[in-house]
Amino acid sequence: ELAHLSNTDVLTGLYNRRYFDQALELEWKRSSRNKAVLSVIIFDIDHFKNINDMFGHQAGDNYLTRMAAALDAVFKRDYDIVARYGGEEFIALLPGIAAENARQLAEQARTNIESLALYHQGNRISTTISAGIMNVVPDQDTRPDYIVSCADKALYQAKQSGRNRVVVFAEASDEDEDKEEIVYAS
Ligand code: GH3
Ligand code: MG
Ligand code: MG
Repeated sequence: ELAHLSNTDVLTGLYNRRYFDQALELEWKRSSRNKAVLSVIIFDIDHFKNINDMFGHQAGDNYLTRMAAALDAVFKRDYDIVARYGGEEFIALLPGIAAENARQLAEQARTNIESLALYHQGNRISTTISAGIMNVVPDQDTRPDYIVSCADKALYQAKQSGRNRVVVFAEASDEDEDKEEIVYAS
């Protein structure tokens, strides 16, 4: 019971960040040995501050809990881990999944949240969620934070380009760098 408590987020019942970090450390090593892909999806609720401002913190908490359950329900494999990563941020760790499947699951989570609504004192509470994804075959020279920071960069792009969307991390290609150089020179 103590182990369960220290691994669990009290509000949502999902795993907490501490558990996620431990799981990532293990999966990183395992995937590195097996030369297998590891995927991380970071989710951040869009404009959640507005929900609290309009309906109060308690309604915000209730809605957050509903959203956590809706997200968690999308990831059904035994070895998938969904955790509450911060206030209104969630994170999924998906070992050995094809990149396209990770994207589809994130997209499913996004549409689930989009259609979710909570009724509170006659008001309909609803919002959307943005997601960033990183897929990588880990190697011994890279730390596990790398996968999280890349997913976070993709999330930032999703926010910048209008929210309510899923972005997969991509390095700027050589081709793009060439284009930049050409623009710079002219
Ligand atoms: P963005 O689309 O840019 O993510 O906008 P945002 O409003 O979601 O982002 P911001 O980081 O400005 O605000 C996050 C809000 O989430 C503010 C904070 O009060 C709220 N929040 C964080 N944790 C909890 C919680 O446990 N319960 C409630 N009710 N609100 C929370
Ligand atoms: Mg946030
Ligand atoms: Mg947010």
